[in-house]
Amino acid sequence: MAIGHDIAGIQEDADGRDTIDVVNPADGTVIGAVVAGGPADVDRAVAAAADAFHMWSTTPMSQRISHVQALAEGLARHREHLAATLSSEMGSPIAFARSAQVGVAIADLERLVDAARAHVERESVSNSLVVSEPVGVVAAITPWNFPLHQIMLKVGAAVLAGCTVVLKPSEVAPLNAAFVGDILREIGLPAGVVNIVHGDGIGVGAPLAEHPLVDMVTFTGSRQVGEQVARAAAGTIKRVALELGGKSAAIVLDDAPLKDSVRGVLASCFANAGQTCAAQTRVLVPERMLEDWQRAAVEQAVAWAPGDPKDESTATGPLASALQRDRVRAHIATAIEEGARALTGGLEVGEPTPGGAYVQPTIFTEVTPGMRIFHEEVFGPVLTITPYATVDEAVDLANDSVYGLSGGVWSSDPRRALDVALRMRTGTVGINGAGLDVGAPFGGYKQSGVGRECGVRGFEEFLELKSVMGAAALHDDGS
Ligand code: NAD
Repeated sequence: MAIGHDIAGIQEDADGRDTIDVVNPADGTVIGAVVAGGPADVDRAVAAAADAFHMWSTTPMSQRISHVQALAEGLARHREHLAATLSSEMGSPIAFARSAQVGVAIADLERLVDAARAHVERESVSNSLVVSEPVGVVAAITPWNFPLHQIMLKVGAAVLAGCTVVLKPSEVAPLNAAFVGDILREIGLPAGVVNIVHGDGIGVGAPLAEHPLVDMVTFTGSRQVGEQVARAAAGTIKRVALELGGKSAAIVLDDAPLKDSVRGVLASCFANAGQTCAAQTRVLVPERMLEDWQRAAVEQAVAWAPGDPKDESTATGPLASALQRDRVRAHIATAIEEGARALTGGLEVGEPTPGGAYVQPTIFTEVTPGMRIFHEEVFGPVLTITPYATVDEAVDLANDSVYGLSGGVWSSDPRRALDVALRMRTGTVGINGAGLDVGAPFGGYKQSGVGRECGVRGFEEFLELKSVMGAAALHDDGS
């Protein structure tokens, strides 16, 4: 039976409504459906969030923290169910779903709670009392690649800040979001604080992004849709936070450990079947290490062969949908046409599970900045290798992108790696394989986005600042 919206604390049914099928990409079977919402549903959900705003924004921080802690505990309690749901709706291998999809979502909430606890709501600045207040009604629009993580970074931070939320989860992977609605009821979050409207981008995302009663839109997804969201939000000058795509580079310095650097770069590029916005998909290798690095990469790529996502040992599942599989295959075909040489992978692929949307993890070498594969985000398991002669050239190649989300540097001398990391125009850089740190700011330079998620900065995105001039002394009085 199709799942309806979750508005003002009520799980609606979908009787008589158009619905969107949810398809398991491992075999193409329909595993559920959600209602295909429209502008009238958006109006109802935004009204519910606006009605709840006064109550929630005046709820003491300690109670807001208790609710978000209870949500984190709820995710942990239902970890197996959530992991199985995520695995079947977007193809994540079950072990990865448990640790990275659900585990990271729990850590997101824990670090946001730390930030909220340490937050100083009032301070004296110059002659003023500066007070931070919630920004208002928040529209959160999320994608399918790390769906639960992306929902928690937005909903967790907004709710802690005292905002109320209308969430539009990805129509490709909405079942985990619907279950989050059940957990929110289970933990007793007041009605209207978080509302969930299902549907596609045109039916729900677009009307939400331009809704006059929405104060802020926080979006994660593609660069193209991010631009549309920002334009829609501009009509009423909403605050906008955008987490968009990337084409991140790993720079292997000439003193880098060979096998570890290969292992780390392949993990960054191939995990989640390459559907990670911060994946390091371009590796820059010193000319004199090229042959050895390529040989080790081909050897290690075997460990990333696609398999059944239900199998505990599978590292690469299907892509999240047949559509995404087709997009990735088109990128691979273009790269081959442009003269990139496939060391492993390519267009041939078996079907570990019949009817699955698989792509063979692929490594291209002889990739130059003149090729589209060097610049375009693939969002699939495709790594490009480009040799370089000097460190300056490597930095220039890394920065030769319209994106600036992430990157990596490998060296046996961490200080040398740091010097290079500081020259990269990206929001995060991992040294020697260090991965996502949900306690530190996460977000992009250039066309990778606006704003930051995670931890203190991710929490502060949802606050307004009010300077009450002439009131500095009142704060000192403890008033
Ligand atoms: P997408 O941009 O197509 O969709 C994202 C969300 O926006 C979905 O919920 C979708 O329904 C909605 N949407 C679509 N059109 C809309 C519109 N006109 N107005 C408002 N909402 C609309 O992205 P996707 O295919 O779900 O995800 C893959 C893309 O997301 C990749 O390009 C990837 O790089 C990017 N991404 C970035 C990050 C990050 O943190 N930077 C994280 C995950 C994914």
